[in-house]
Amino acid sequence: MDILVAIVVMALGALLLGAALGYAAVRFRVEGDPVTDKINAILPQTQCGQCGFPGCKPYAEAIASGKAEINLCPPGGNEGACKLAELLGRDYAPLEEEAIKPERAVAVIVEDRCIGCTLCIQACPVDAIVGAARQMHTVVEALCTGCELCLKPCPVECIDMRAIPETPETWRWPEVRRPADERRQAEGMAAC
Ligand code: SF4
Ligand code: SF4
Repeated sequence: MDILVAIVVMALGALLLGAALGYAAVRFRVEGDPVTDKINAILPQTQCGQCGFPGCKPYAEAIASGKAEINLCPPGGNEGACKLAELLGRDYAPLEEEAIKPERAVAVIVEDRCIGCTLCIQACPVDAIVGAARQMHTVVEALCTGCELCLKPCPVECIDMRAIPETPETWRWPEVRRPADERRQAEGMAAC
């Protein structure tokens, strides 16, 4: 009988605790900052750190708090900076010339030189490299953003950056003037 009472008491206790935790999770839930979320949605999610921040979300938070310029993201390019300027009503400023890569490239591992140290896997922010310890590694081209973060840690320098040949799939419209430019100019802001 005592055991039964103990089980019932414990079950009731667990139920109450569960209800309290559930209530706390709803009552004290921290909503994300909608502005940061909108900025982060514009950023390319390459997590490459070329903006100087440890990923896209920290950069979005810095922009939202006014601690960072909107033109620091090379993978996003001038198009990304323009969208951010429009979203935030800030003056548009193009990326620094040297920040813009003339062509898109992906990492390629020279497989017969790879020693399987796995350092590149640890460096890749988008898990584009597959391999195992002391086994050959290779890059999944479709996942690679060309951020070059895997180059430095490779002890045998067997990772090359190869330009993506222009095909109908990879071809992009050159940046053209958009109606938004005229509107921004009319509002006295720098045109994208
Ligand atoms: S494979 Fe290298 S270049 Fe490609 S996304 Fe990963 S770290 Fe960047
Ligand atoms: S860092 Fe270089 S050597 Fe090491 S696994 Fe990657 S490609 Fe191979």
